[in-house]
Amino acid sequence: MARRTQAPILKGYRQTFSVIVDPGGSWSATLAKGEIVRFVDLEGQQAVDFLCYNSANLTDRYNAANTMKMAANVYLNKGTILYGELATPLMVLRDTSCPNHDTIGGCCSVEMNFIRYGRRTHSCRANFLHELTKRNMDAADIVANVNFFMSVPVLPDGGMAISESPSRAGDYVDVEACTDVLIAISNCPQKYNPACGYNPTPIRAEIYRKAVRPGRK
Ligand SMILES: [Zn+2]
Repeated sequence: MARRTQAPILKGYRQTFSVIVDPGGSWSATLAKGEIVRFVDLEGQQAVDFLCYNSANLTDRYNAANTMKMAANVYLNKGTILYGELATPLMVLRDTSCPNHDTIGGCCSVEMNFIRYGRRTHSCRANFLHELTKRNMDAADIVANVNFFMSVPVLPDGGMAISESPSRAGDYVDVEACTDVLIAISNCPQKYNPACGYNPTPIRAEIYRKAVRPGRK
């Protein structure tokens, strides 16, 4: 039987929100400093394209290059801080059961799918745009993104390619807000490369807030 991961209970936190995002669907939310968003890859090998923005200054948005430079690594793992345009620590990967999340592969788009696969398709770029326009943002706010559960190994000769993900059913990533943030995801609809195992599937997004014990402040 295939391995199935069970995400641990977050002690001292209570869940305040949970939603299943269909394959090809999108979702966005605001998180206060200290809140955690957990993404669960329900069936495995499902890329979750992710962007985050400083709520206090939306131009201070996720910056892949800053994040890789500060981590001295191209892969995102437990402890990796997601830095903003202005070098602000926006979020941190508190925990994950899946290694080496990607931030160099970017998102799929109707144009890229057409030149690569000859198909005009739904895309993560369209999903990001859908979520951002709800918040009076536009295409200029879409930047190089994080791809949770997506594998893009870099080879010694510099070669890179979207490869089969190690993510299995139930794998999770917990991302904590280091400041108040806006987050947006696209549950990737890609069928023509291994980003989603050629079979896009649903994921679950959950939000956790620190539990306040009675009588304490
Ligand atoms: Zn995609």
